[in-house]
Amino acid sequence: MSLILAAEAIVPGTLYIVAAPSGAGKSSLVNALIKRLSFVYLSISHTTRAMRPGEEDGQHYHFINSEEFVQRVGEGEFLEHAQVFDNYYGTSQKYVQRQLDAGHDVILEIDWQGAQQVRKLMPDCKSIYILPPSKEALQERLEKRQQDSAEVVARRMRDAVSEMSHYAEFDYLIINDDFYKALDEMCTIFTANRTAIAQQQVRYEALIEQLLN
Ligand code: GDP
Ligand code: ADP
Ligand code: 5GP
Repeated sequence: MSLILAAEAIVPGTLYIVAAPSGAGKSSLVNALIKRLSFVYLSISHTTRAMRPGEEDGQHYHFINSEEFVQRVGEGEFLEHAQVFDNYYGTSQKYVQRQLDAGHDVILEIDWQGAQQVRKLMPDCKSIYILPPSKEALQERLEKRQQDSAEVVARRMRDAVSEMSHYAEFDYLIINDDFYKALDEMCTIFTANRTAIAQQQVRYEALIEQLLN
């Protein structure tokens, strides 16, 4: 049981961008991280791509058609949006802001184009790039997932090099070879940031006041 009696203050959350070539393991890592760290929330993107077997609307993505996507762009609903492969993807501005205001850290799983847009709008965000241990491993993972046709896998492999070429624009780099090592590294980034003095002073102001007086 916690012996901390003083209430915690809400500190606005931090926005994180996680990017990687398709198949590097970003969704697997992000989903495992969210199970470990209760203060982290995932933004569910909107997309025009077809639903994969096993995917659910509202859980993996908000699946919408191109007309609706264009309408939402016009209404300014997206914090960022981009064309990736042959589909459109966008992040709901309202959802992200609501979670940050509630003191939650938010993860955006987006591509390098979206990352560039978000960095301009929210310069305090932190960004993490995930690389696979080899091209062969990337291809194997795309095939093992068994959710995309051979043609789609080949397209994603072709686009992987241009996606990966943006890695140096990010604040942190994780090589996803051993899954649990990569997961630990990612959790460390979130926990270190969460315990930074500037945040903790505000969060635990009442406690610090009690301790020092
Ligand atoms: P996956 O990468 O294998 O999970 O395949 P998806 O079709 O689910 O996503 C393809 C790519 O689109 C991802 O790798 C991300 O880089 C990118 N993406 C997903 N959501 C968004 C978004 O909201 N905005 C942007 N800009 N890119 C996104
Ligand atoms: P992304 O979201 O980047 O497209 P996924 O999280 O869907 O990638 O991972 C692609 C595939 O690779 C999945 O089948 C996943 O289980 C597998 N995978 C993820 N990380 C590792 C790892 N470190 N070692 C082996 N396989 C992995
Ligand atoms: P509402 O406030 O009506 O629930 O949602 C407003 C907008 O945010 C809608 O476009 C809705 O699809 C989207 N939205 C709802 N939940 C989520 C979420 O978890 N993530 C993201 N990115 N958008 C969401």
